[in-house]
Amino acid sequence: MNNDLSKAKEALFRSLRSALGGLSESVLQAIQQVPRERFVPPESRHMAYLDIPLAIGAGQTISQPYIVALMTQALELRGTERVLELGTGSGYQAAIISRLVPQGSLVTVERVPELADRARAVLKELGYANVTVELAGPTLGSPGRAPFDAIIVTAAAPRLPPSLVDQLAPGGRLVIPVGSRDMQELVQARRTDEGLSLRMLGPCRFVPLLGPEPFPEE
Ligand code: SAH
Repeated sequence: MNNDLSKAKEALFRSLRSALGGLSESVLQAIQQVPRERFVPPESRHMAYLDIPLAIGAGQTISQPYIVALMTQALELRGTERVLELGTGSGYQAAIISRLVPQGSLVTVERVPELADRARAVLKELGYANVTVELAGPTLGSPGRAPFDAIIVTAAAPRLPPSLVDQLAPGGRLVIPVGSRDMQELVQARRTDEGLSLRMLGPCRFVPLLGPEPFPEE
């Protein structure tokens, strides 16, 4: 890594460490270990450690590191969970989760084949062996491999999608941006015996989750 990039990485890390509310040590460590520059297009590599989303092609973006950290933390991973991600995109968020479930696994689903192929290749190159990249099918998520202990959706939905709630194990956490196409609230929904218990984590802005159940395709 060149000098400018490693300085930017240190600066980003310092700012995440002092983030309001506090991020856990394990999440910070995962952020430090995953080379974000490998998940962005070559022409954006010099911006890889700015705390901003970046374009990754097909009209999609890799999320801002702070939001990646916040969502990852809300999954409450201890190391053995079976995790589902919707919206593989660059594969960066998948790499972070992979590090946090060394005895578990991650299935990550993407609807754009080129993005799925690219993410699969870089995740393999970097040795994230507990990650499976799947192409999105007719039902949201990966019902054939359910239930999951944690589900993260890195695209915006107009409401909590019932088919994803169905793929959640008892006690499982679903972390998802819910709102309009322009603005959402980050929600953590926990499946309990009494139903879903909800926690609001703050405002955010994601590209829309597309398909029959979430936002219709235009
Ligand atoms: N987590 C990614 C960023 C995701 S951007 C990263 O770390 O880089 C959101 C992604 O969700 C886009 O790549 C988009 O193609 C994908 N997406 C949209 N609707 C989807 C659906 N129904 N199922 C799976 N992926 C979907």
